[in-house]
Amino acid sequence: MHTRYSDGSGATTDLVRAAAEVGLDYIIITDHMDLRALPEAGTYDTVHAIVGYEHNDRDSRNHYLALGIDQVLDPDLAPDRLPGEVKKLGGVGIVAHPEERRAHMRELPPYPWTAWNSTDFDALELWNQMSEWTEHLTRWNRYTRVWSPRKSLYGPSERILYLWDILNTRRPIAGVAGVDAHAFPYPLGPFKISIYPYKVHFRTLQTHLFFDSEPATDHAAFQAQLLQAFRDCRLYFTNERWGPTQGFRLWVESGKTVAGIGDSVPTGRNVRLLAQWPARARYEVVYNGFPMWRGEGHELAVNLHLPGVYRIALHRNGRVWLMTNHIRLVDA
Ligand SMILES: [Zn+2]
Repeated sequence: MHTRYSDGSGATTDLVRAAAEVGLDYIIITDHMDLRALPEAGTYDTVHAIVGYEHNDRDSRNHYLALGIDQVLDPDLAPDRLPGEVKKLGGVGIVAHPEERRAHMRELPPYPWTAWNSTDFDALELWNQMSEWTEHLTRWNRYTRVWSPRKSLYGPSERILYLWDILNTRRPIAGVAGVDAHAFPYPLGPFKISIYPYKVHFRTLQTHLFFDSEPATDHAAFQAQLLQAFRDCRLYFTNERWGPTQGFRLWVESGKTVAGIGDSVPTGRNVRLLAQWPARARYEVVYNGFPMWRGEGHELAVNLHLPGVYRIALHRNGRVWLMTNHIRLVDA
């Protein structure tokens, strides 16, 4: 999300206040080519404010969220080399809105990722709230969309999900959702309103992380845990518009072993994937990019035999409610 150090409208404290009201544990601030918010990183009561930055190349393409580093890299750096440089500095990098497109509203140009030849990125932002909202915006619906911005979100595109699944058959790459919050005023006829005030943003797309140990209260230790969760793909993301997702669980049982999202499990005779969630939803278990099981209810249980990467997606009202990262089944 963005503060007024770049093109957002709020200060770090405004973001933290909105996050606390919605009950978020962490926010990640990524101003464009700017780390002035870094001294404001820290733990504010219940909210951890992590500060990284959004790297843009000279042509404004190839937006990359660099976390855990304390310098802004050269904008002339070839985008193919950017993920490697962030990694070398001990950081974690997320490809931002990788396939941003515009069918309408040509005056708001898209900023897709083009450096697919790079191999060191840690995560793809599969779902970007501002990108999707802007993509569906037309000259005709712009007046109604602004009043119900959360309803216009369907989910990540099939194309980017498929690419993500295929890349994951090679190496773990996390898939995340981002709000890309700016809370910028949008000129609408004679009025200016904020489409997504920070608070509305925060009640929509959320990325939920699993830590190996209790979340630290110390900021640096918390940030280290958070970066590791991204590296290990221990996460899922939700659109909270379709209901709270507390109580969601996905795990694999294999003999006495229990594994979770991000883990690798050896193939065997009795490997079961199980999940449960708090409200009736349509589910899909996706294997190597292919939807192998589908159904509806509050839970699922299937037997896994084939090595590869598995994840699940839940839909409500025809929209994505929750999507997990992968659990991998590896040759024993
Ligand atoms: Zn961007």
